[in-house]
Amino acid sequence: MKKRSSYWLLSPYLRLQRRHISWGFFWVLIYSAFWPVLATLAGQVSRYLGTDLMMLIQISLWGALAYILQGIAQYGQNTSMAKVAVSIGFDLRQRVYAHLLRLGPAYFAETPIGDLSYRLTGDIDRVSITINNMLHQFLPSVLQLIVVLGNLVYLNWRLTIAVFLIAPLIAVLVGWFGEQVQNQSRRSQNQIADLSSAVTEDFSGIRLIQAFAAEEFTLSRFMNKAEANRQAKYQTERWLAIQHPVLSVIQVSGILLVLVLAGWQVTTGNLSMPGLISYFTSIAMLIDPISRVTSNYSELKQCEASVDRIFELLAVPPTILEKPNAQTLPAITGHIQYQDVSFGYVPDQPVLKHFNLDVKPGEMIALVGTSGAGKSTIASLLMRFYDIQAGSISIDNIDIRDVTLPSLRRQIGTVPQDTVLFSATVAENIAFGQPDFDIAAVEAAAKIANAHQFISQLSQGYHTWVGERGTNFSGGQRQRIAIARAVFLNPRILVLDEATSALDSESEALVQEALERIMLDRTVFIIAHRLATVRKANRILVVENGQVIESGSHSELLKLTNGRYASFHAQQFR
Ligand code: ADP
Repeated sequence: MKKRSSYWLLSPYLRLQRRHISWGFFWVLIYSAFWPVLATLAGQVSRYLGTDLMMLIQISLWGALAYILQGIAQYGQNTSMAKVAVSIGFDLRQRVYAHLLRLGPAYFAETPIGDLSYRLTGDIDRVSITINNMLHQFLPSVLQLIVVLGNLVYLNWRLTIAVFLIAPLIAVLVGWFGEQVQNQSRRSQNQIADLSSAVTEDFSGIRLIQAFAAEEFTLSRFMNKAEANRQAKYQTERWLAIQHPVLSVIQVSGILLVLVLAGWQVTTGNLSMPGLISYFTSIAMLIDPISRVTSNYSELKQCEASVDRIFELLAVPPTILEKPNAQTLPAITGHIQYQDVSFGYVPDQPVLKHFNLDVKPGEMIALVGTSGAGKSTIASLLMRFYDIQAGSISIDNIDIRDVTLPSLRRQIGTVPQDTVLFSATVAENIAFGQPDFDIAAVEAAAKIANAHQFISQLSQGYHTWVGERGTNFSGGQRQRIAIARAVFLNPRILVLDEATSALDSESEALVQEALERIMLDRTVFIIAHRLATVRKANRILVVENGQVIESGSHSELLKLTNGRYASFHAQQFR
C-alpha cells in the first residue's frame, strides 16, 4: 500500500490559519476571473487594429484597468498566503522546540545536536517557503488553468481537445520526474544535516583538534562528508536540469500542433480572426501556470523529506512522563528515601542494584568511590532524569513519580562539574529560568557564592554579556556563578557533583568556602574525588558497583580495618 503523504501531518497547522486561507482564496478567485477578460480584450484589439483608433484606445484603457485590478487582487492573495506560510513555520518551530525540551538527557546524548538544529531551522524554513509557494503560486496557477481552459472550450472545443490530449502526457512525466528528484533530495538533505553536525562537533572540540595538531585529519574528514554532499546535490541539480528542457519540448510541440489545427479551423470558417487571437492569447496564458505547477510539484516532492524530518522529532516519545493526576510537590523539608532501587541505563545492565538510603532533612551525604561506580546516577535519579526500574524514591514520603516535574526539580539545586553558561548577562545566568528577577537578590546570591567581587570588577558588572559557553571566565569563576545560581533558587536539596574537582587550589578554596555557606540547613549530596572536601559530611557512603559498601562519618570509616575509604584516604594523603 502506498504511504499516505506526510503533508497530511500539516493539516492541523493549516486549519489554524483558516481565516487567512479563506481571504487568500477570495483574492485568488478575483485574480483568476480577470484572465478571460484580458483574453477577450486582446481579441477585440485585433478587430479594431488599423480601422478604429478611438475604439482601440478605449479597449486598451479597459485592458490597463483590468490589469491594475488584477494586480491588486494578486497583492491581496500574496500577502494573505505569505501570512499563512510564516505563521505555520512559527507554530511548527514552537511545537517542535517545546517537545524537544521535554525529552530526557538520554535522547540528546545519542542525537547529533547539529542535526536537531538543522531540522529546527533549515527544514522548517523550507516547509514554510514551500507552503508559501503552494498557496500563492500553485493554487492560483491551477485556478488559472481551469479558468483559461474553460475559456478555450468556449472559444473552440475542437482545438481544445488537442490541448487536452497533451496535458495527461505532461502530468505523467511530471510525476515521474518529481519522484526521482525527491529521492535525490532526501539523500542530499540527510547529508546536509550530517555536515552541520560535523561542524558543531568539530568547533566545540577546536582546542582538542589544535592540541593534537589534528587539523589536517579533521579537514579531510570534513571534506569527505562535503564531497558526499556535493555529489548528492549535483545529482539533484542534474535531475532538475533534465526536467525543464524535456517539459519545454513537450509544451512547444503541443503548441505547434494546436497552431496547425487552428489554421485549419480558420480556413474552414469555424474560427474568426479575433477568435483566433483570443484563443492564442489564452494558450499563452497556459504556459506560465503549467511551468509553475511543474516546478511547484517537484518542490513539493523535495519538501516532503523536510516534513518527514520535522515530524520525526515530534514522534519521539518523552521517556519521563508526568502522571495525569500529578500533584505539585509542596515545600519540602528534604527527607529523601531510596527504597530498594534498581536501575540501568540499558535494560539488563543494572547500574544500581537494590540500593537503599535514608537521608534526614539537613543531612550532608558524601558519595565517594571509583569512577563509574554509580554516584552521579544516584543523584540524577533524584531529579528524575531517568525512571527507575524497581523500588521507589521519595521526598518527604511522596514518591517523586507522583508529582509534577517542575515542582520536583525546582526544589533541587545542582552545581555540576561542568558549568553551563548561556549567552545572556551574568545576572540572567544567575537568575536562570526567571524572566523577572530582583537584581538585589542576584547580588545577594553572588555574595554568598563568593562571586560578587569578581563580577563587580567586570566592565559592566552584572550586565556583562557572557559569551557562548562562558569561555571568557575562568573555571573557578564559572563555578562560583553556578553556585550563585543554586543559591538564587534557594532549594532545600543540593547536589554538588564533583563541583571542585576541576579547579586549582586557590579557586578551590573560594569555591569551597562558598559551598560550605550554601550547604547550611539543606539536605546535601556531595560527590567528590578529593576526600578533603567530604570530611565534614554527616555520613560518607562508599559506592561500588552501584551498592553502598561502607557508610559512616570520616572518623568512623578511617577506623575500619581494611576499609575501602581508609585505603583511598591513605592513597590521597600519603
Ligand atoms: P560515577 O558518578 O560514580 O562516576 P556514574 O553514575 O556516572 O558513575 O556511572 C555509573 C555507570 O553508568 C557507569 O558504568 C557509566 O558508564 C554508566 N552510565 C552513566 N551515564 C550513562 C548514560 N547516560 N548512558 C549509559 N550509561 C551510563
